[in-house]
Amino acid sequence: MAETPNPQSVFPPQLDPRKVFRQALQIQGHIAVSALDRLCEILLDDQGVVNARLAFEVDSDRRLRIRGHVNAEVSVVCQRCMQPMKQILDDSIDLVMVSTEARMKQLPATLDPWFCGEDEVLVPADIIEEQLILAMPIVTMHQSCIDIDDLNSKAKELHTKGSSGTESSEAGSGKHNPFAVLAGLKSDRNKS
Ligand SMILES: [Zn+2]
Repeated sequence: MAETPNPQSVFPPQLDPRKVFRQALQIQGHIAVSALDRLCEILLDDQGVVNARLAFEVDSDRRLRIRGHVNAEVSVVCQRCMQPMKQILDDSIDLVMVSTEARMKQLPATLDPWFCGEDEVLVPADIIEEQLILAMPIVTMHQSCIDIDDLNSKAKELHTKGSSGTESSEAGSGKHNPFAVLAGLKSDRNKS
């Protein structure tokens, strides 16, 4: 996998499925995010480049196996603070090419099919795009949002604490006064 017999900077638009598996073709390259329409529909913009690797082989069960890797940094919206954010999409590819519905149904559940009809061509960009869409998290979110909403909710929290304090102040006045505790600590420290 580390060796790349056919290093290519741009993916061929089409591949002949009758040849690539027999040749055990390996390709590596880049595709502009803007070239992947379906992916762009779920992104904030079409900026970015996809790095991808595809390897075709006939596996030990005589299945037409497509393995590889996709990696891209794309722009999405954080669904918590609604600000733009970068999302890394990184996933491995492991598919079995099938040319009939019957073959597809025969596949074990652990293997994912890639359908390519008898007289059709393989389109590397389609495989890469599909995997990137699958790699997209259901919810895109900053690990920690630094924004106004966050500060607002904190402020609100403080406010509600303050107001509930005054409501119960009649019943519990003097009982749990944090300032009294602080004063006590202070005087203790002064004594020692
Ligand atoms: Zn956020």
